[in-house]
Amino acid sequence: MKRNEIHVIYGSDCRKMIYEMLESIQLIKDLNVDMHIGIKPNLVVAKPAKEGATTSPSIVEGVIQYLQNHGCKNISIMEGSWVGDSTKRAFKVCGYEDLAQKYNVPLYDLKDDSSVVRQVGDLELHVCQRPLQVDFLINIPVLKAHCQTLMTCALKNLKGCIPDKEKRRFHTLGLTKPIGYLAKAIPMGLIIVDGMAGDLTFEEGGNPVQMDRIIIGKDPVLLDTYAASLLGYTKEDIEYIGIAEGMGVGSSNLAMANIQEYDVGLKRNSEFKTSNQVRHLTKKVIAKSACSACYGSLVHALQRLDDIDMLKSICKPIYIGQDFQGQELEGIGIGRCTNKCTQSVVGCPPNAMDILEVLNNNLSR
Ligand code: SF4
Repeated sequence: MKRNEIHVIYGSDCRKMIYEMLESIQLIKDLNVDMHIGIKPNLVVAKPAKEGATTSPSIVEGVIQYLQNHGCKNISIMEGSWVGDSTKRAFKVCGYEDLAQKYNVPLYDLKDDSSVVRQVGDLELHVCQRPLQVDFLINIPVLKAHCQTLMTCALKNLKGCIPDKEKRRFHTLGLTKPIGYLAKAIPMGLIIVDGMAGDLTFEEGGNPVQMDRIIIGKDPVLLDTYAASLLGYTKEDIEYIGIAEGMGVGSSNLAMANIQEYDVGLKRNSEFKTSNQVRHLTKKVIAKSACSACYGSLVHALQRLDDIDMLKSICKPIYIGQDFQGQELEGIGIGRCTNKCTQSVVGCPPNAMDILEVLNNNLSR
C-alpha cells in the first residue's frame, strides 16, 4: 500500500470490514511475524464506543484476528486516557479487558509508562517509551469533533502517547503546534480510522452520528485532510494539519491521493456537519490553555443550564485555563488555575456538578 492511498469501506459490521480491508491491502507484506506490533486506540474517556468518543473494540478485534491468523504473536494495546480519566477504567468500560483476555494480548496504560525527550523542530516533546519501542504502530483514532481543534483524528490521537504532565503543557503551547509536531516523534505504520459513529458535537461522546465507514491509510496528514473534508472543513480550518505537513510528516494533497472505496452501496451519506452547539454554549467563556478534561466538564455544566433555558442568565464572564494562574479577575473561574477569580470552582480538573452549582449561584434571575 502506497502512502498516497486512502481505502474506505462502508458497512455496519466493523470487525468483518476491517478484516477484509487488511486482507485486501495485504498488510502482512509490511510485517514479519516476529515484529512487536502496537495498537493505539482512542480511549480518551471511559465510555463505550456507541457514545461516539472511543474506538470500537470490534475494529481492534478484527485487527488482532488478522494479525494472529497471519502468525503475528507479539501484539499489545496501549493508551493513556485524558487527564481527567483513568485508562484502566476506560479499558474495562470500553470492552478492552475482555478483548485482551480473549486474544491473550496485553494492555498497557501509558500513564504508567516512562517517557523520553524527542527534539522536534524548536520543541522538546516528552513521549511515552512504549509506542517508540514497537516495530510497527497501528494508530486507530475515532473521527469526531473537538471543542478546541474542531476535529480529532489520526494526528491528534497520538496525544494519548504522552504523559499527563505533557498533555497539560500541550495546552499551554496552544495545542495545535505540538500536535502537528508529535507525529514526527512517533512513527506509525498504519492508520485505521473508526468512522462508524463519532460524536460530531464534542470529543467526549454522547452525540454519535452514524457514518458507517472505516478509512485506512499510511499518511496521517493525508488521512486527516480527507477526514476534515468529510466534515466540511478545509486543511486551513484544522490548523495542526498544515503544521504537521510543514514538519514533513505527510502531504495534504488530496488531488494526488488515490482513494479506493469498497461496498459503496452501503454508503449512507458523503458529507457530515459538525454541530455548533459547543460554540453556542461557550459564548461567555474566556479560555486560555485550558485542558480538555476541564473544558469538557464546563461544557457539560453549560449544557445542563441550556437544557433548562438558563444559559442566557449567566451574567459574568467565565475564565478557564492555565494562563489565568495567579490572576485576580472579576468573574467565575473554573478549576484550580483560576482560584483568584471572585468566584471559583475547585478541582483539577473540576467536575461538572461542582461547576453547575457555582454557575447556578451566579445566575441573574
Ligand atoms: S485546573 Fe483545569 S486548566 Fe488548570 S491544570 Fe487543572 S485541568 Fe488544566
